[in-house]
Amino acid sequence: MLLLSNTLSGRVEAFQPLDPNRVKMYTCGPTVYDFVHIGNLRTFIFQDVLKRFLHYKGFDVFHVMNITDVDDKTIRDSGAQTIEELRRFTDGFTKAFFEDCDRLGIEKPDRAVHATDHIEDMVTLIRQLQAKGYTYEKDGSIYFRIAAFKDYGKLAKLDLQGIQVGARVDVDEYDKQDARDFVLWKAPKNGEPRWNTPLGPGRPGWHIECSAMSMKYLGETFDLHCGAVDLIFPHHENEIAQSEAATEKPFVRFWVHGEHLIVNGEKMSKSKGNFFTLRDLLEKGSDPWAVRYALQSVPYKRQLNFTNESLQQAEISLKRLQAFKHRIRTESLEKGQNPKVKEGCATVLQKFERAMAQDLNTAQALATIFDWVREVNIALAENCVYSEDALLILATMEKLNQVLVLWESEEFQLDSDIQRLLDERSQARKVRNFLLADKIRQRIYDRGYVIEDGKNGVRCKKR
Ligand SMILES: [Zn+2]
Repeated sequence: MLLLSNTLSGRVEAFQPLDPNRVKMYTCGPTVYDFVHIGNLRTFIFQDVLKRFLHYKGFDVFHVMNITDVDDKTIRDSGAQTIEELRRFTDGFTKAFFEDCDRLGIEKPDRAVHATDHIEDMVTLIRQLQAKGYTYEKDGSIYFRIAAFKDYGKLAKLDLQGIQVGARVDVDEYDKQDARDFVLWKAPKNGEPRWNTPLGPGRPGWHIECSAMSMKYLGETFDLHCGAVDLIFPHHENEIAQSEAATEKPFVRFWVHGEHLIVNGEKMSKSKGNFFTLRDLLEKGSDPWAVRYALQSVPYKRQLNFTNESLQQAEISLKRLQAFKHRIRTESLEKGQNPKVKEGCATVLQKFERAMAQDLNTAQALATIFDWVREVNIALAENCVYSEDALLILATMEKLNQVLVLWESEEFQLDSDIQRLLDERSQARKVRNFLLADKIRQRIYDRGYVIEDGKNGVRCKKR
């Protein structure tokens, strides 16, 4: 059972997808007007960990993410006058975004969908809302009338008493205090990109894109919708209003939101000089694996204070794990197996799963891994770890790595056949039968592994 904090109910709940085997997941992607900063990346990493843990638990996950390539910010910063110019500007940042994700081991969504490729779907949804009486027009723009949707405010827990009925807001982002009728379709402005549609010329508001695209690919009701806490209002509140008003069905079952990241105890801002992109950190010589480690080491529901020390600590922790892995891989161990080591491997996986199932408690999960590493190191010092144990330990580490991504995965498979060949080869070398040793090396190679003979023993890896 996986417990997740559901913003909609305000409670931690047991997660179950509608279709028992398939999780339908939507995450709000980047607004591609700049490189994403580490606060954004923290959100994408938390979503990646969630997705990977669902995979680990045996679920098939279908993940859709939008690319916001038309909104107030992309239009402002591109200075684009045409759709083509806008797309050229945003495509560069979309590419950069996926490069950053790649460096941090964040899996690609099954579908990454561009807002500008889905204008027709947005127009269709707005027309449905028009037909049901949820909209009105003013100066060529179309607004959603929030007073017409009785559940407005249920996600952000808004108190709507005292809102000004009929007051409108044209910008994509605004505060809770400014809850107003929001814009679905914006009248064209001179010198801005525009689409000619049955609604008239103009461009979509930000919120409608996620309603239109998520329902197109995941259906009218789906399991999981994630984002950072700052999207709860107005973006996600408005998504619910648009979708549920149109379909009269529940839109999303679980809303899961990641907390903010601060830097040295302060809100990140360009003017304070504490604003970092991944590229900034890498230029300063940071290891991308350590960046990921630091960003996922605090559970997503807690605010994360990113500091130089936290990054250094992450590097130290990772080095310890890597040194451990290297030692297990290369140490010459006697043939055999220690049942206690085997038990330890099973226990660490159980504890890891338990921690992760508690609303993705990554801090606890990592602590569990380090406790286990310490135990195995003690056993190694006492010469109580054998060759079969080593394979099991490596396989266990790979399993943990599938969720937390601590190093480049080698998909190491526990294969006792390969181990037997390795043992035979080392016997052959001991008696200086190099012809046989080479033949065995070839047999191992044919099964997909290469051997490196090092100072501390033999290293075998997938080729
Ligand atoms: Zn969105």
